[in-house]
Amino acid sequence: MSAPDIVTCDACPVLCRIRPDKTGACDRYGNVGGVLTRMDPLTVAARAPELVRFAGEDWDGNPVAARDVFVTALGAGTTYPDYKPAPFIVGSTIDGVDMVTVVSEGIFSYCGLKLKIDTDRHLGPEAATVRAGGEAVGHVTTAEYGSQMLALGGVHHLTGGSKREGVATCEAMLRLANGGAVELAIDGGATVLAQAGRAPVVGGVAEARMRVGCGSATIGIFAGQWLGHADEVIVVDDHITGVLSEHQAGRFLDMRPAGIRVRGRRSTPGRYFQVANPGGGWGGTDIADPLAIIERIDPKAAWPGLRLLMVSTTGEHAAWFVLDEQLRPQPAPMPPAIAEAVALIGENCEPALCSVLFTAGAGGSLRAGATRNPVRLTRAVQQGRAKVTSGGAPVFVWPGGGITYMVDVAAMPAASFGHVPTPALVAPIEFTLPLADYAALGGHMERVRPLAEVLEQARPRAVVLPAGTPFPVT
Ligand code: SF4
Repeated sequence: MSAPDIVTCDACPVLCRIRPDKTGACDRYGNVGGVLTRMDPLTVAARAPELVRFAGEDWDGNPVAARDVFVTALGAGTTYPDYKPAPFIVGSTIDGVDMVTVVSEGIFSYCGLKLKIDTDRHLGPEAATVRAGGEAVGHVTTAEYGSQMLALGGVHHLTGGSKREGVATCEAMLRLANGGAVELAIDGGATVLAQAGRAPVVGGVAEARMRVGCGSATIGIFAGQWLGHADEVIVVDDHITGVLSEHQAGRFLDMRPAGIRVRGRRSTPGRYFQVANPGGGWGGTDIADPLAIIERIDPKAAWPGLRLLMVSTTGEHAAWFVLDEQLRPQPAPMPPAIAEAVALIGENCEPALCSVLFTAGAGGSLRAGATRNPVRLTRAVQQGRAKVTSGGAPVFVWPGGGITYMVDVAAMPAASFGHVPTPALVAPIEFTLPLADYAALGGHMERVRPLAEVLEQARPRAVVLPAGTPFPVT
């Protein structure tokens, strides 16, 4: 039996026994005057903070608030075991339709982060282990166009390995999800300092530009502007290195074949794979000297005085050569027109950023907090009758079974995530649907409370969602 001044938190399976004026293991719940208390305030998203007013503050009530104020699950608390109704089930009327928003902080054992790192630089081989603090917390996954992708977390790292691995995984995910920076080390690859919305720092160097496209695309974009200023342009790229005079773009422009053959495997005319190994050099290759990728120069096609530009897909690396009498490329001062063309590549690059998407499965017991018949909630979500948001931010729900969703952490209010030591992440989740649908799916109707009452009693803090995040109530 608990001592009278100790409260037992039943918001997660850890069941902390909390002494007066202390918090539990996750710092989310505390003992305030003998009462179990969620330490962070309930948070509402408001079109403007001044729209959240309380009785006696000249506020005229629910109809205005329902359009302009949305109760998020930040600070709402969790319920455990899940058959208990969600902490807040909020009723409101929008455009004459009675609506319900079911609000809960979900405890996600099955969750992870997808990191998109805008860089050409080689971070590590696909499937290589990603470490934080020396522990395995994820892996390198398939690269995307101009970006390297990392998959962090997941149930196997959280609970399937050692306790240290689980703790390190949870800590790294929590920090990244809340907008913090984490240094990640990739086996057989680079170190990356990752932070949502910031430039990735690869091997200690801040990435500035996201490439304009692959080498072939760069040729396709800029070929017309090089015509007449260069006899050959080779765009060095770890994916596809482009050779202008041989490329379809050069042929359209009636360029004379220059006879410069690069290393690697020819895919189609003027497009070459594997000209070098991946690395941190030119165009995401391991080369520092661009001439290293030239296999041979055909004396039947090339000519003395041939003007050759070699450039990377970001324009960060560029060199100008003129062939001498022996057809050897000799470095030469870059003409202003070519320097301008190189600068134009740089101008067309977008700023390199790190994006962090939280992925989680809400298809399990969390649904019981919304309805006694969980599969009906799943179906309502899949059929688009119930809208899912996370801290008010829109989510992408994967097709197929369950409610597996992804959300951009930068679209959510600051510090939206918490954790429990099981270990698992805690994330806000809201389900919004018409009251009639909620009743039909077996919702906890007796727990629906008017928005005005929730606002009045909970006295929430109001935040404005980050710029670019659509307001959840339209
Ligand atoms: S870890 Fe947090 S939520 Fe879980 S029992 Fe302890 S205080 Fe409560």
